[in-house]
Amino acid sequence: MLRTGLVVDARYQDHYTGRNHPERPTRISTLLTLVEDYHRPGMKHLAPRSATPEEIALIHDSTHIGRVAATAEKNYFAFDADTPVSSQSYATALLATGGLLTLLEAIMTREVDNGFALVRPPGHHAERNRAMGFCLFNSAAIGAQYLREKFGLQRIVVMDWDVHHGNGTQHSFYDDPGILYVSTHQYPYYPGTGAAEEVGQGQGEGYTVNLPIPAGWGNEEYQELFQGVIDPICRQFDPQFVLISAGFDAHSRDPLGGMEVTEAGFGTMARILLRIARDHAHGRCAAILEGGYDLKGLQKSVVQVLDEMAGDTLVNALPQLEPRALLPRIKAVQRQYWELPKD
Ligand SMILES: [Zn+2]
Repeated sequence: MLRTGLVVDARYQDHYTGRNHPERPTRISTLLTLVEDYHRPGMKHLAPRSATPEEIALIHDSTHIGRVAATAEKNYFAFDADTPVSSQSYATALLATGGLLTLLEAIMTREVDNGFALVRPPGHHAERNRAMGFCLFNSAAIGAQYLREKFGLQRIVVMDWDVHHGNGTQHSFYDDPGILYVSTHQYPYYPGTGAAEEVGQGQGEGYTVNLPIPAGWGNEEYQELFQGVIDPICRQFDPQFVLISAGFDAHSRDPLGGMEVTEAGFGTMARILLRIARDHAHGRCAAILEGGYDLKGLQKSVVQVLDEMAGDTLVNALPQLEPRALLPRIKAVQRQYWELPKD
C-alpha cells in the first residue's frame, strides 16, 4: 500500500464568492466531512502552509500579486463577472497554493508517495498578470515551477482533466520543453483556448498537448483518449513527476460541464497516470483540486482517486473498450511530435 498525503483545511472555506456562485465554500465543507470518514492505513494528513509572495512570483508578476493582495482590505471586489473575492480571499489563495507546495515537499522528501491537495480557490485559469475564471493564483503552475527550482527536476507532466481548458497553465509554459502540459477539455467552451493546433512554440513546440473534445463524452471515450494518446506521449516524455490539475466538472452530475464522466471514469484516468508515475517518476504524483461543482459528484470522485492512490488497484486491468477511431484530428496533430499506436 502506498502512503498518500492529504491536504484539506477548514480555512479553505474563508474565500467567499457570494450567494449562488458555484465555486463556493461548501465544496470544502463537503470534503472535510468526507475525510472524517475516510480512513486507511498509509493516509497522512498534512497541515498546509501559506505560500510566500516570492513563491507566487514563480509564475505571476508583481502587479498581479499586488492587486490580489490589495483585495484583503475590501469586503467585496470582482476581478471579472466570474471572479468575485472577499477580504479573506488573498489569504485563502496563498494557503491553497501553499497546500500544494506542502504536499510536493512531503512527496519529494519521501514522507509520502503521492497525495491530493483539496483546496480552493482553484488556479488553472489564472494568467501571469490576471485573475479570471474563479482563479486568483495558478497553484499547479507554481507547483511545477517550484519542483524545478527547489528540487531540480527537469521534466514534469501537468495533466489537466478539468472540463475547462487551463489557459493560465498553458501560457505559463508555452515555450518551455521541461513541462509537458496535457489538457482534456470540452471545446468550444470557456475560456475559448485549447484548440488541438495549440502545441507550444519555440523550444516548447510539441510540449503543449491539447485534447479538445465535444460535450457528451463519457468514461469510455476519455479512457480511449488516455490510453491511446496521453499514456504513450507521457511515457515518451519520461516525467520525473506527475502533477494533476484535478477538476471534477466533467462529472455527469456537474451543473457547468457537459460531459458524462462518472467517478469510475476519474478512477481510470487516475490509474493510468499513477502507472506512468510508478514506471517513470518513482511513483511521485500529486493532484490538486480545480473545478467540480456538484457536491455529490465531487465527493465520490475524490474518493475514487484516493482509492487509486492507495496503489492496490494499479495492477488491475482497465475496463475493456470497443475499438473505435474517435480521434483522427487530435492524433494527426500529435503524430508530428510523438509516436502513437496505430488505429
Ligand atoms: Zn473547470
